[in-house]
This record gives sequence, structure tokens and C-alpha cells, in this order.
Amino acid sequence: MDLKKKLELKKIYLYRRFYSFFERPSGYEPYDFGIYEEALSGMNGSGKYNFIGMEHVREKRDDRINVILRHDIDRMEDVGMLETFLEYELERRMFSSSYIRVDGEKYSPADILEIVRKYAGKGHEFGLHSSCYTHDDCMGRFEWEAGEFLRVFGFRPGSFTQHGMGSRFIERRQEFNGRLDEAKKRTGISMTDCCMSDVLYHFKVTDANYDYKRKARFLGSYFRSFPYVPYSRGKCYLVLTHPGYWKKQRNAGR
Ligand SMILES: [Zn+2]
Repeated sequence: MDLKKKLELKKIYLYRRFYSFFERPSGYEPYDFGIYEEALSGMNGSGKYNFIGMEHVREKRDDRINVILRHDIDRMEDVGMLETFLEYELERRMFSSSYIRVDGEKYSPADILEIVRKYAGKGHEFGLHSSCYTHDDCMGRFEWEAGEFLRVFGFRPGSFTQHGMGSRFIERRQEFNGRLDEAKKRTGISMTDCCMSDVLYHFKVTDANYDYKRKARFLGSYFRSFPYVPYSRGKCYLVLTHPGYWKKQRNAGR
């Protein structure tokens, strides 16, 4: 890695640390879908934002605040709520990247096939959500998962993300991450955000924080502060959601 890149990574790290310090819980699971609607409508229409899919992250713009909307589909509950997210985004010409597991542990890829068929041609991206690093032969497993994705959905995933296991398998995960070039070459997948070489997020807004005292997931305060601070043009931000953590309130439409 050259010095310029190293410095850039260091700057991003400090930037994230600084703002993370001010992050506070602002709602516990299940979250009201209206919060997501408000966050997105706050960003939309101002001309300041550029929504890009993970596969097109290299097309990020210097004159806009670049935002990647990512959905991780970990469980059947996520499959169940995904369409609500995709439909809302599509109506506003905002496009997201959803990451699907093919390991069959919490749902079968066939359970999500209809949704992928319906939205893949409309601008939303669908990629592979992998936990191949839990297997002894992680590279072989990764190749199998990419092949399984192609077999079920009929197209190759253009990008992939990792399904997190907390601190479990951390060493194996790092080992796999050290072989990402090989993994990409073997599968033809071009982008990932599991190392910083492809995607340089300046900040992550996520719905997957955990409050150990209350034993509950919480939404970070930055989720509600879109589009105010600390976003700036030319930088890239990730908004990561797990649709199953959200609920559409019965009296929605506020
Ligand atoms: Zn996951």
C-alpha cells in the first residue's frame, strides 16, 4: 500500500472515531419504518446526494455526498420486510444493494427469488452475503456460494459482503480477507466492502448497534440526523439496514 493510501485510511479512521463518539441510541428494535422514510426523504430531492450501488462505487462523485444503501438479508424476517424497503426506494428513484445468503441456514435462496426477479432489472442490486470464512476450505466454499447464487438467480453477483459473526472465526476471516484478490478472480465478483481497498466509507450509519445493558438492538442517532451533520461532498457513506429489524407501523403515513 502506498503512503498516500495509508494516510487516507488513517484520516478516515480518525474521522469515524470522532463522530462515533457522539453516536447515541435513538430507538430500540423494532424500528418504525417511518424513520427510514424520513431519513431518505431528507436526503432526496436536494441534489446534494448521489445514491450508488456497491457495484458502481467507483463512479462516486466529488461534487455530491455519495450514499450506499445496503440491506443485509440475514434471516427470514429480513426477506419478509425487504420489499417494503425496495419499493419505497424505487418510487423515489433511489437504488440499494441487497446481500443474500445462499447457505440455507436461516432461509432458502428460493424464498427470495421472486423479489430478486421483480427488482433486479429496475436498478436495485443483489449480491452475495457470505460467511465462507467459517469453513475450513474458505476459498472453495466461496466459489461454491458464488456458483449457487448464479444457479438460483440466473446471474453472477457483482459484489459481496460478509455476514458477521462478532468475534467468532475472526482469524479465519482475516485470513480470507488477505486473499480477496484471489477470491474475486475465481468468481468474477468485482467489488466488496469487507476491506477498504474497494470502498472507502467515511462513515457507517447502521441499525445493528447493540445495547448490552438493555440487551436490545438500537438505532444510532445519526440515522435521524441525515441530512445534517457530518456529511460532506466527495465522501462516501454507508447506510446499512437489516429489514427484519424494522416494522411498518399500522398508522404509517405521517
Ligand atoms: Zn449478515
